[in-house]
Amino acid sequence: MQKNTICLPETIIDTHCHGRDLKQAYKTTIRQTLSEALEALISISVFMPNTLPAITNLMILQHQLRLLGNARKKLCLKNQQYGHFGLTDRNLVECEAALKFREVLGLKDYPLSADGTTVTTGTIGVFDPRTRLAGLHLVRQHRKIYARHCDNPGIIAREGHTINAEVADVEDMISLASQVPGAKVVACHISCRESAELILKAQKKGLPITIELCPHYLWFDSEGTNWNPDLDPVFYKCFNSLRGGEHREFLVSLLPTDNPWIIIGSDNAPHPTQEKIQGKLGGLPSNQEMVPVICTLAKKYKISNHRVVELLSWNASRFLGIRISKKFNRYRLIDKIDDLAYNNGIVTNPWNGSRLLFPAAIEA
Ligand SMILES: [Zn+2]
Repeated sequence: MQKNTICLPETIIDTHCHGRDLKQAYKTTIRQTLSEALEALISISVFMPNTLPAITNLMILQHQLRLLGNARKKLCLKNQQYGHFGLTDRNLVECEAALKFREVLGLKDYPLSADGTTVTTGTIGVFDPRTRLAGLHLVRQHRKIYARHCDNPGIIAREGHTINAEVADVEDMISLASQVPGAKVVACHISCRESAELILKAQKKGLPITIELCPHYLWFDSEGTNWNPDLDPVFYKCFNSLRGGEHREFLVSLLPTDNPWIIIGSDNAPHPTQEKIQGKLGGLPSNQEMVPVICTLAKKYKISNHRVVELLSWNASRFLGIRISKKFNRYRLIDKIDDLAYNNGIVTNPWNGSRLLFPAAIEA
């Protein structure tokens, strides 16, 4: 890799983002998200179903697919864009029908407690382990993906969004996945060393469980590393929570390995500034920083250019079954302070102030 340049794949995949739209179009829209992604060199985004209303029935799914199609046309995107369908204890028949859509990559599982409290917003989620097993069988049968937001709502109710809560859910996920061998699972936005180690162990036993790493867990931590001192700490609140520096460092140490079952998703989750402060909502805008953070860490830790390509594209392409172009482009890396805006400035960007290496086109 030349000193101030990098080769990036023509097709970069963001495995996890929140396009909102529907009743939350004021936060952001699929089109806005895709246009910000495009500016930041991401050409394929995978949208999550915890929208309002949630994508748990075919009518809402078809509406979302129309939004995706329209946004794609307006932005002249040549690549297909994707989403997950929300699994619930009552919609297995619809899940099976949804999995037949080309744009539906798989099922998303948000854990639900016995009293109906979900780990995300709204009411979407799964309580019954039999639903999870049925979902795993369905994705295996249809050669699709089972994505799980790993957090245990019972433990959250008792002690908050602790490492314990995440790890207990990761253990449950591994135990269920081992009962349906071959079912491909994405462990979404893993935030701590313990979860990652459990998944690495399960991978060694042959379970196809991929660790999804997000830029904010690789850059920020609960100790305030890289935080903008001018911003309210709520702008660094996300689910799963940011952990201590040792966890950030451990997750970063996974980047240069040759593990093909590590993928990068932004978990881009914007909220307008006032709503974020007043509602103390979790979620960071992050898709415009996904590629710059990986480029910055690659330079800092001497991660090979080949590995950067795997992390930003090839690993996700193989695991998620998305066919992509294998072409590259070379970029100059510009060292600058982040001043990017989300949703035309309606959303405060907690990355503002971070010094990152931004890829810029090399003029012919
Ligand atoms: Zn998310």
